[in-house]
Parts: sequence; structure tokens; C-alpha cells
Amino acid sequence: MQGENAYIDWLRQRIPSSPRVLIGPGDDTAAVTWGAGPACLITTDMLLEGTCFTLEDSPIQVAGVESASPLRVGHKAMAVNLSDIAAMAGIPVAAVVSVGLPRRGGRHLGEELFWGMKERADEFGVAIVGGDTNSWDGPLVISISLFGEPGPAGIVRRSGAEVGDWLIVTGPLGGSIRGKHLDFIPRVREALALSSLVRLKAMIDISDGLSLDLSRLCKESACGAVLWSDRIPKMPGVTLQQALGDGEDFELLAAVHPTDAKRLLHEQPIEGIQIHAIGEVVSVGLWLDVDNCRKPLDVSGFQHILQ
Ligand SMILES: [Mg+2]
Repeated sequence: MQGENAYIDWLRQRIPSSPRVLIGPGDDTAAVTWGAGPACLITTDMLLEGTCFTLEDSPIQVAGVESASPLRVGHKAMAVNLSDIAAMAGIPVAAVVSVGLPRRGGRHLGEELFWGMKERADEFGVAIVGGDTNSWDGPLVISISLFGEPGPAGIVRRSGAEVGDWLIVTGPLGGSIRGKHLDFIPRVREALALSSLVRLKAMIDISDGLSLDLSRLCKESACGAVLWSDRIPKMPGVTLQQALGDGEDFELLAAVHPTDAKRLLHEQPIEGIQIHAIGEVVSVGLWLDVDNCRKPLDVSGFQHILQ
């Protein structure tokens, strides 16, 4: 049994580079150049009923997964894409939406989904410019591709972290499955504000769990990291293990110079969020510091399983 990481690695070895591709697979978004204009950031995300959400009044229900209205599913479908643009400190611009609607009740479902997507899109100035509508006997499938442009400070990749950098996060982690994963507000504005204040050397959005997404950032930056267990902010009622492993927090994890990190911690300059320093970049390995004792970090988190 293998996870999506292994499949993505396989793909990356087979996707040729091209002079117009600034960033290929392996970051939160791709980036492509269009002549003299700004680069275009491109990302896409698909949500599957029964895996990423369940719908109210649907025969498909999954133990432990709260069912949601189509409006909230629409919110999430747009927000997960916006979060990837945020992870590059980018500005979202336009989206296309593809849906596979169940034949029965599909029209009403499609309308409610649209209102949910539009609400989030409007909040961030994103135009929904097209898409594709299918119907079938299967469950709801929704896929959005979002296009954006770099923010004023430029594109922040996963690959720029250096030994000695501090790791910061934009909010508390864990327990998102209890509803937050549907209603979260992507950190687009916060990422742009942060990038105007300090040099963000590397960044990723925490979509699949802190430890797994940290391992991805470290892999791209060819470095390791140590997390300070007592400084990881947790949602109320959440254990350290859940904060490390639960998916869909959609907070940002960034590497910054320690001087910048200390300034952010002291000044807390971004309205609506509290910045936390949770660890440090080291040369090799992923570690969890507990009472001044370093032990290997268990890289847990959500990966789609492929057989
Ligand atoms: Mg991401």
C-alpha cells in the first residue's frame, strides 16, 4: 500500500521541465510565465463526497465525519484552493469549477454549491469564470482550479528554509474535523501582510497535518526541523498528537529568520491572528523536543491511499 506522496514523486520524475514553467509539481501551486507580465500561479483541488465531506440527507455517511450542507461544501471547495494561493503569498484572481453531480437532486445541489463557492470567492475578489458540469449515478465530486498572481513581495516557495530559521504558524492546530474544516477562512490576507513585514523564506499551508506538511517543506528545502512540543498552539480540547497529525487546519507554516520571528512574536502585527513560533530548522531529521529531550517526530497525517 502506498500513499499519494509516492505517486507524486513518481510523477515528478516523469514530468519534463519547460522554459515557461517557473514552478512545477511539488509546491502549493505551480507558476507559469506569460511573457513580460506577472507569473500565473495555478492550483487545483478536488473534493469527494464520502472522503472529504458528507452531505446532509445523503445515503453516503461516514463514521466520525460530520455531514454538511452543500453551501458549506461550496465554501470549503473554494477555500482549500485559496489556501494554496495563500501558501505562496499570492493574490487569487479567477477560478474554474468542475462538478460531477448526482442525477437525483443534482440541480438544487449544484445551485447551493455555487452560492457557497461564490461567497468565498467574493470575499477574496475571485471571479468564477467557467467550468464543466457532469451528472452521474455516483456521489458528488467537485474540483476547482484557481489562478492567481504573485504578491508584491514575490512568490514564497517551500524550498527556501535554512538551518537556524524559526518555524512559525498562524493559529492553533488540531481538531479541525469537528467543523472548522468546512468553515475556515483561508489565510490569504495574513500571508500578504506577513510577506510585507518579513522575508518569508519558505511556506506551506497545513492541509494534511503539521508533521506531514512540515516534512514536505523540509524535503523541498533539503533540511530537517525540530518542533518545540510545549509551544505548539492547540485548539481547545485537542491533544499534542492531534495537533501534530490532524489534517485540514489550513493555517500557514513558514520559516523565517529568528530575528524576524522574535519581532513578529513580540509585535503580533497581524489583526485577527496570533503568530506562534513552534520550532527551528536543523540540518537533518525531523524531531520533537519534549522537556529538552529530542525524539524522532512521528510523521503522521492524512494521505490518500493508493493500492
Ligand atoms: Mg497546500
